[in-house]
Amino acid sequence: MTLTFDPSTRLVIGGRSVESVSGATFATLNPATGQELAKVSEGSAEDMDRAVAAARDAFDNGPWGRMSPAERRGLLKRFALLVEANADELAMLESLEAGKPIFDTSTIDLPETVACLMWHAELADKVYDQASPSGPGVVSTIVREPIGVVGAVLPWNYPLMMAAWKIGPALAAGNTMVLKPAEQTSLSTIRIGELATEAGLPDGVLNVVPGFGETAGQALGLHTDVDCVGFTGSTEVGRMFLRYSADSNLKRVLLECGGKNPMVVMSDAEDLDKVAAAACESIFWNAGQNCSSNSRLLLHESVADDVLARIDEAMHEWIVGDPLDPETRVGAIIESAHMDKILGNIQKAKDEGATLRAGGGRTRVDSGGWFVEPTIFTEVSRDMTVAREEVFGPVLSVSTFAHADEGIAMANDTDYGLHASVFTSNVRSAHLAARMLKAGTVSINTYSEGDMSTPFGGYGLSGFGGRDNGVHAHEQYTETKTIWLDLA
Ligand code: NAP
Ligand code: MG
Repeated sequence: MTLTFDPSTRLVIGGRSVESVSGATFATLNPATGQELAKVSEGSAEDMDRAVAAARDAFDNGPWGRMSPAERRGLLKRFALLVEANADELAMLESLEAGKPIFDTSTIDLPETVACLMWHAELADKVYDQASPSGPGVVSTIVREPIGVVGAVLPWNYPLMMAAWKIGPALAAGNTMVLKPAEQTSLSTIRIGELATEAGLPDGVLNVVPGFGETAGQALGLHTDVDCVGFTGSTEVGRMFLRYSADSNLKRVLLECGGKNPMVVMSDAEDLDKVAAAACESIFWNAGQNCSSNSRLLLHESVADDVLARIDEAMHEWIVGDPLDPETRVGAIIESAHMDKILGNIQKAKDEGATLRAGGGRTRVDSGGWFVEPTIFTEVSRDMTVAREEVFGPVLSVSTFAHADEGIAMANDTDYGLHASVFTSNVRSAHLAARMLKAGTVSINTYSEGDMSTPFGGYGLSGFGGRDNGVHAHEQYTETKTIWLDLA
């Protein structure tokens, strides 16, 4: 029997699968083998124009805007269920294209994608408008309206989950969308664009334009018919979207960017096995290619040796391997250039005097793919590059502190502020630390980003303009309008 791999590779515009105007394509690779998986249609600025026009038309003239929220809810639930029905195929696409373990894509990425779409679909007819306390002489209502055409510019680390975090709230709020997936991971996003049509979403409500950031992404950012852009990716590119907005139509910009997140372990942390497990999960999950990973482990000196010894044990569970092997917990790095960047950071940490305790090299070279060993540095001082810059790989930097206040100060000594964890058995110090840590999410005695119902986003260089997830995400894709009726 010959197995064929024939994924959809074209743009989705106006409910149809179409070629790019130029006919150009680009190769998408399997990070676990280095081999080409498929050739994807390359969307240009001209294709972005077509997609935005389709989204605009669907918003201004299509049935979407005239539907009741309950009707929208019904269609979006159908879409979520169709994604669920195709979860195996989508999980496989994500593993092949992003190098993510099939264990993760099938048990985390896809279930959470479906749950997110469903959660926001359900919200479509459950958020109320308001009346203001303006007195008996007026009827004053504050209504939330969809913004219009929302662009989403996506990263490669959780392709469908990050797409869902934008699609769920933006469509439930009544907007139409154009998605620009990361160049390394277009296939699963294209596929859900097709499933949206199959689920009965009106033509033009969800468009997908694969292509490069510098061309298709920039065209979306500068487009004067786009009312809002939701972006997840690096701080550097996030800044560009603020400039695009300033240079075009002042479109709303929502940024979810990087992090250099701390995990602070106090002297009274209760369960050090749990600490070790959480530390490993937070830095080795998705091979550390995760904006909320706790890449800085800050240990009170009284527990440091004990925690490190337990981490040495817990690390054995983080098996590097073929992403399609169900035993694998650490898959491939997204591309060779990113692997080289991670290895460069490892070399720099050594040069700057950090002590290499585990890992430190490339592995599985014979596979042709790009794999990096789970790596731990100890004796990392605050000024070292590995303590300051986001590596976005499986590289943990460990430092110690003598007093709780010093631990919190070290945790906050960063320009980022996405996520932080604190481990302590004292409820009062847990709450105090949670208040003092500068981060959009603080998890206590665990590593967690929260769930669908909790806002996710960052302070400082980690974000701008809003939050993903929760009712907050829904609201950020709406405009606020005051309607004032004088009864006199
Ligand atoms: P990236 O290089 O910033 O790319 C993100 C998206 O922006 C991609 O779709 C990219 O397209 C596009 N882009 C690149 N250059 C552009 C330009 N000049 N104009 C318009 N668009 C452009 O980030 P990444 O490498 O995909 O992801 C890694 C980064 O994302 C990390 O720093 C990580 O911390 C951050 N991240 C943050 C969160 C969060 O929730 N806060 C979540 C995940 C990741 P191309 O792919 O074609 O270059
Ligand atoms: Mg690029």
